Amino acid sequence: MLPYGRQSISSADVEAVTAVLGTDWLTTGPAVSRFEEDLSAVCGGHRAVAVTSGTAALHVAYAAAGVGPGQDVVVAPLTFVATASAAALLGANVIFADVSEDTGNLDPDAAKAALTSSTTVVAGVDYAGHPIDADPLRALAQEAGALLLEDAAHSVGGTWHGRPVGDLADLTTLSFFPTKNLTTAEGGAVVSTRADLDAGARSFRNHGLVRDKAVQRFPDEGPWHQEVHAFGLNYRLPDLLAALGSSQLTRLAAFTARRAEIHARYDAALADVSEVRTPSRREGAEPAWHLYPLRVLDGRRRELFEFLRSREIGVQVNYIPAYWHPVFADLGYRRGLCPNAEEYYSQQLSLPLFPDLTDADVDRVAALVREFFGHGE
Ligand SMILES: *Cc1c(COP(=O)(O)O)cnc(C)c1O
Repeated sequence: MLPYGRQSISSADVEAVTAVLGTDWLTTGPAVSRFEEDLSAVCGGHRAVAVTSGTAALHVAYAAAGVGPGQDVVVAPLTFVATASAAALLGANVIFADVSEDTGNLDPDAAKAALTSSTTVVAGVDYAGHPIDADPLRALAQEAGALLLEDAAHSVGGTWHGRPVGDLADLTTLSFFPTKNLTTAEGGAVVSTRADLDAGARSFRNHGLVRDKAVQRFPDEGPWHQEVHAFGLNYRLPDLLAALGSSQLTRLAAFTARRAEIHARYDAALADVSEVRTPSRREGAEPAWHLYPLRVLDGRRRELFEFLRSREIGVQVNYIPAYWHPVFADLGYRRGLCPNAEEYYSQQLSLPLFPDLTDADVDRVAALVREFFGHGE
């Protein structure tokens, strides 16, 4: 089965990881600091905190933003459930706001209409790798006294009007799961444009432990003493995995370029198939494409999915609207809430996309899609 996404591991990646095994540091050590600096360099120079997954990054970012009970968090529904569940776990009330029908990204007008006096975070998702409409979203969040969080699990390496992902929102979260644009096996990061958010993220990643005597409540307890001022968890990314991340980052530009090439090849091969719609790109966006979200317009998405799977093409559907998950349905969220997200989902099919996919593979997948719709060669 040709997968829809797959990591690209080089011999340099293998060497970087095995080198760490021979050092004193397996978990938090010099490779983590270096990875955070390397990430910062591709994220507009802003501080990065490495954590154990994209989900942990969301949990850490919402915690750093002070999200808690009695607060509202506006979330785009066309996403992996973690964008919403991390806020819900902190006790916040999640308010879903619809997406734009072209990109599948949070629609600024819908986000504005969803704001309340208790909104603390507006969370958009760079769906498929296409950056969010950051300027109006940041402006409306700021006006409401809220922060803009960008779930960039799909989009590290992308730019929006020349500005890199990481520079667009107050908080940006990344995922390094193997299917994503670069990998640390499991891993993620939080990029913050403010020092206080970075400090909050670092604290939450490490149990909230305070080691600085100048701010400890009981500094005279002894030289061994460390104390907790706010709850946190252990979301520390090991050095072993951070080394893989730094090695992968040296190829991020090449990964992004190859992903764009494959995207363009699918676009060209499917342009004249009237039963489908190829992905939209807004002016000013240079996406780091994570997905190729084809849209099937004639109601036969499931049939095409099953046809391609039967031909060993590992297509995927991304995503069921987050509030369709029973955990949200049981809380009273109803279908029909965000019509654009629901229509997008009903049409969406992710074709295989990863850097090591060959042109011949792309052509074979496109030919099967054409064959399905009766557009033979
Ligand atoms: C993958 C993903 C996550 C979660 O990342 P993990 O590293 O798998 O925990 C969150 N949001 C989006 C949009 C994702 O695609």
